Amino acid sequence: MLLRIAGRCSVAGMTSSEHLRAAVRDIADFPKEGILFKDITPVLANGALFRDCITLLCETAAGQKIDKVVGIDARGFIFAAAVADRLGVGFVPVRKAGKLPWKTRGLAYSLEYGENVIELHEDAVLPGENVLLVDDLLATGGTAAAAAELITSLGANLIGAAFFIELCELHGRAKMPNCPIHSILSYGAEWRLLHRWIFFTAKALRPRRFEMFLLQSARKTSRVDAETQVEIITKFEG
Ligand code: AMP
Repeated sequence: MLLRIAGRCSVAGMTSSEHLRAAVRDIADFPKEGILFKDITPVLANGALFRDCITLLCETAAGQKIDKVVGIDARGFIFAAAVADRLGVGFVPVRKAGKLPWKTRGLAYSLEYGENVIELHEDAVLPGENVLLVDDLLATGGTAAAAAELITSLGANLIGAAFFIELCELHGRAKMPNCPIHSILSYGAEWRLLHRWIFFTAKALRPRRFEMFLLQSARKTSRVDAETQVEIITKFEG
């Protein structure tokens, strides 16, 4: 049975975000060694999942007057265009350098893998317009922060930024402190909470042994000098 409550749906006990999470495919070492690529194509290929994903992205702007949805080249276009259509407003592409045909404003930024320059048409968003920024994934936040800067430099109001996926460990949202950030699926946050819980429990139960463990780990893993070891312990204890 399908239940729909305020835009969220649940099938056989699983919420739509759980279905979406189950469909995202992890590809190790793509496009470079060390990168765990989040492949969203299984979500796009499933009509019900894609619709749920767009519904959840639209909900992030609930109650706000949005004039334009800006999407980031290239996977961001897929989500942003669908969100714009659902909200009944215009779609604006932020593109890689050299792809837009008219007068552009550009900005350079660094990626989780590599460097890039993005551009926006100068008349794509107007002063005073309310803009929602949409992309497939928030990693280091360089791309979104650059897009946000381009939008606000043209005088538009950035109402929020919505991402299908957020890789929390890369702290991308810290690059956009003045913009409300929403993500449908976040990865890494639960591990951070678990680590923190293990850390504080171990510290509370066996403080002296825990201190020695930290010292030994620091010695083994980073071969740091004595002064830095003391610093590490002080930092962890603080
Ligand atoms: P960043 O500027 O680091 O936040 O990178 C965000 C952009 O890079 C998004 O538009 C994604 O399409 C892409 N990206 C970065 N890291 C990944 C990843 N691990 N899996 C899939 N796409 C990624």
